[in-house]
Order: sequence, then structure tokens, then C-alpha cells
Amino acid sequence: MKATSRRNFLSSVAQSALTVSLLPAFGAGIENQLVGEGKLRVAIMGLGSYANRVAEAMLDCKRAVLTGLISGSPEKVKTWQSKYGIPDKNCYDYGNFDAIRSNPDIDAVYIITPNALHKEQTLRVARAGKHVICEKPMSVNAAEAEEMVAACKKAGVKLLIGYRMHVEAKTLEVIRLRKSGAFGKIVFFQGLSGFKIGDPTQWRLNKSLAGGGAMMDIGIYSVNGSRYMVGEEPIWVTAQETKTDPVKFKPGVDETIIFQMGFPSGAVASCLSTYNANHLDKFFLSGDKGFAEMQPSTGYGPIMGKTHLGTLDFAHRTHQTVQMDEMADVILDNKKLEVPLDGEEGLKDMKIIDAIYRSVASGKKEFIS
Ligand code: NAD
Repeated sequence: MKATSRRNFLSSVAQSALTVSLLPAFGAGIENQLVGEGKLRVAIMGLGSYANRVAEAMLDCKRAVLTGLISGSPEKVKTWQSKYGIPDKNCYDYGNFDAIRSNPDIDAVYIITPNALHKEQTLRVARAGKHVICEKPMSVNAAEAEEMVAACKKAGVKLLIGYRMHVEAKTLEVIRLRKSGAFGKIVFFQGLSGFKIGDPTQWRLNKSLAGGGAMMDIGIYSVNGSRYMVGEEPIWVTAQETKTDPVKFKPGVDETIIFQMGFPSGAVASCLSTYNANHLDKFFLSGDKGFAEMQPSTGYGPIMGKTHLGTLDFAHRTHQTVQMDEMADVILDNKKLEVPLDGEEGLKDMKIIDAIYRSVASGKKEFIS
């Protein structure tokens, strides 16, 4: 069944009250037809807001298919089983998911839970012998990220991070132009990443679950983007924090951080990470022969951009659909991507974020080890 016809089929099934009671058995049948050779069979862990977006997008994937669920909420599992046709035997909770080891319907687990849970969950999935796809930030610091990379290596499984921009067409075109020399020598990058966060009780504002504040959640896009836009690894950072609402943004939860980075070639970056302003989703790259400007630069799209040569003109494709198909190629065929999205890439970002927090605390230039 083609992805689009499967989407139509599943939606007509979901709309029919008559068929609801048939779904568990019927769902298993759907998967048995679909889970054929050559597809990456993925279980999603954590059925929250972003997981919903990923699962919807996967309906249009050619190589990745949702075959399992891991959740602490039996109600959510039931709803997802009906929507996506997942059989009971492929559903787990946080207590029993180690048993995924003996489930031949699942090749990889996509961890989409609060940041501070990623490390332990990655280690458990790796021990169960399944590939790990983990959301950004991959962990709450570089030491944890190193542990995750080592654990996956030891277990002989791949570790990929949900860096959807690494496979986005306009982003890749800017990278291609930069590599071709179209911008000349790169001298400057600006990254603006932020939004105004709402509900003060959400896990994103709880240090023990988020690991930090805006930097972990949204500032990471400027950190990561600086590396693929400039095409170098930064060697130092300086950073300054401001806080307008210390009640909402408790100690250890950053509201706004302005940071600067220096690269080996002499290029510099100036970035902003905030939970206190909307309309901040912009990258600017300047070289001695040209420039690239992207706004929005990392949102769900369409990404918009131009260079000194003209508008970046590529059709928008749902980022998560492209990401999951590319990840299937990486896991199943060892495909090498132009911009890798593996654990080592995630670790590089965590080292920079560690240095940014160190610099906020010390007030000094901090070097990235
Ligand atoms: P969310 O709150 O909507 O979902 C989190 C899920 O984790 C919920 O289903 C929740 O029930 C579950 N969970 C399991 N254990 C939990 C616990 N102890 N405390 C709280 N929740 C628990 O959050 P989200 O927006 O889906 O974000 C999840 C992850 O995805 C984060 O790491 C975030 O950074 C990442 N994310 C990535 C993107 C992207 O574009 N790549 C976008 C949004 C979120």
C-alpha cells in the first residue's frame, strides 16, 4: 500500500465508529502487510506533542514505518493504536520496554521525551539491542552525551539525533554554495533562535527535566546552525545571560542568553537564545564574496531564504518525513549524509552548550574542549 493511500485508509478507518472494535486485530494485519523488507520499523517512546507530529509525518515515509509505542499512558496508547494500527504485542510502558529486545517488528526506538530522560532511555534501548533515534538536545551535558555515544558503540547500534535541518533542502543548498566557494571566505554568522514560552508549569521550565532553559530547547538551533553554516567547529565562546522574570525562570533555567563564538579561520558568530520573544528564527551568513539569509531558518517550514545570487527555490517537504526516510537509509544502508546527524554531532553541540553555560558563570571566554 502506498503511503498516501495508507494515510487515506487509516483516516477512513479512524472515522468509522463501526470499525473501532476491530482495530487491534485489523491493525496488526495492516502492519504485517507493510512491514516488509527494507523498511526501518520504528517504535516511538513518549507520545507527546512532537511525537504526534513525527508519527503523522511518517505516514508519508517510503522507508520508515511506525510499528511500536512506548508510553506511560494506557489511554494514549489506545488512541495511537487505533490511529496507526499498532498491535498490542508492540506496545510497552516505561517499566517493561527492555523486552523490546525480543520483538522482531522493531528495529529502532525514537526517544521523544523530556531532555533529562534521554540518556537513561538511550542506554536502555541500546542494551536492548535496538538502534536509537533521540530528540535534541541529546542530553543535558557533554558527559552524558559521551556516555550515550559509548554505550551505543558498545552495543553495536546506531545513535542518531533528530536534527531535521541537516536534511532540509534549502539548508543543504546554502551548505553546497558555501562549499563551492560562492560566498568566498566566511567571516560572520548570526543566529537568532527564540519564542515566548507559555505555561510556567511545563517541563521545559523545570531544570530537573529540561536540563536548562531556552538554550537546551531552542538556542541549540543557533549552536548547531553555526557549525553547518560556517562549516567549522568553534573553538571559544563568550556568553551573557539576562533574566526579566526570575519567578518563571528559576535558577538553572535560562530565559535569554546572548553568545559569541570564534572559529579557527577567524570567522565569528553572534547569537541569541531566548524564551522571551517571538519572531526569532533567523540565520545570516556573510562571506567576502556573498551572503545567505534564512528566515524562518529552523521552524517547521517552509524555510525561506535568499543569497546574493537570488531566492532559494526548493519545494517544501515535511521535515520529519524527509528525516525519517533519510535515517532509514543511514541505519539500513549506512548512507553517509552531507551533514551527519549522529551522536557525535550531538556531542559537539553539547560541548558548546557546556562552554556557553561555563562562560555565563565565569564571565570569561571559555574554550571548547
Ligand atoms: P511534550 O511534553 O509534548 O511530550 C513529552 C512526552 O514525554 C509526553 O508524552 C510525556 O507524557 C512523556 N514523558 C515521559 N516521562 C515523562 C516525565 N517524567 N515527565 C514529563 N513527561 C514525560 O514535549 P515535546 O514538545 O514533544 O518534546 C519532547 C522532546 O522532543 C524534547 O526533547 C524536545 O526538545 C524535542 N522536540 C524536538 C523538536 C524538533 O523540531 N526536533 C520539536 C519539539 C520538541
